[in-house]
Amino acid sequence: MIPEHLFPMTFVVFDMEWNQPIPYIPSPIDPKILPGEIIDIGAVKLEMLSEKEYRLSRPFSVTIRPTYYRIMNKQVSKVINKSTDDLKSGMHFKDAIRQFMEWCGDDYVLCAWGDSDISILKSNLKIHGFSSEINDRFLDIQPLFGRVAENTSQQRSVAYAVDFYRIPKTDDFHSADRDAWYEARILQESLIDYFAIRAKGTETEQTFPNLRTYISNPNLTTQKKWKSEVFTSEKAAARKALEEKMLCPICETSLSEEIGWFASGHSYLSLWQCVTHGALSGRIRIKRTPKQEFYGSGQLRFVNGNAARYVREKWQEKNEKKEECEEIANKCDK
Ligand SMILES: [Zn+2]
Repeated sequence: MIPEHLFPMTFVVFDMEWNQPIPYIPSPIDPKILPGEIIDIGAVKLEMLSEKEYRLSRPFSVTIRPTYYRIMNKQVSKVINKSTDDLKSGMHFKDAIRQFMEWCGDDYVLCAWGDSDISILKSNLKIHGFSSEINDRFLDIQPLFGRVAENTSQQRSVAYAVDFYRIPKTDDFHSADRDAWYEARILQESLIDYFAIRAKGTETEQTFPNLRTYISNPNLTTQKKWKSEVFTSEKAAARKALEEKMLCPICETSLSEEIGWFASGHSYLSLWQCVTHGALSGRIRIKRTPKQEFYGSGQLRFVNGNAARYVREKWQEKNEKKEECEEIANKCDK
């Protein structure tokens, strides 16, 4: 639970529109480095005065004149309804981002719907010579909404959540500041639901993750990857990959095991904790080489409450199956 003394707490909900390269025109820059160039930033502050009282700010909005992708991509245009002519006006990214940061203030949780806005923001900062480090607290509204509103890890759209909470639709979607406003309203309703569910006291920390677990540090994208040697059998490759020592990718201390490695489909999954940096999940896949040999490919990365829950659910499913099998085996013995 968030301690009372943290109120008021400020959430900055932001939304962006970006243009994309056009496939048949040589791109002025590698699209892998810049998958989208920001042309609009919209944001709304949601101030939490108590678990039930919230205040919405007036929207922030800035239009950016693109430096690289100056011809409107048709697919993008269909969604956001802008033409190449519209891209000729607006501020330079450098000025726009300074204005945005200033408007944000210095003590807030940055929020968005999904994690694509944040990765696009990072790539744009980098290309313009800024550090790609952003605010160290980020909340993805989508999984929080999924959990508190519907108890699902299914991905929903903003429009779906707006309908779910019966938020009045006063404007079209897909203008950055309007979308940010809708998302801030969804966050408000989700927080109210979250605290109401918590207040009932019927859920445990395991079944209903603390709000804290939805807030991650987007600058900690560090992940660890490893590969085993090549073996002639799948089993040997798995055995070797599973031997890897689990250390936190940031501080390199030994991780404590929450759920040890278990087989799930064609992968192995696990869940770990670093005392300082939070929850991590591990996944090992067994891959086949062209010579029909095998190696294990492992990945350890930071996870939010929903992703951690996925691993717990898979573990539970497996245990239930095991119990069922044992039951059947017992009956046969008799
Ligand atoms: Zn650590």
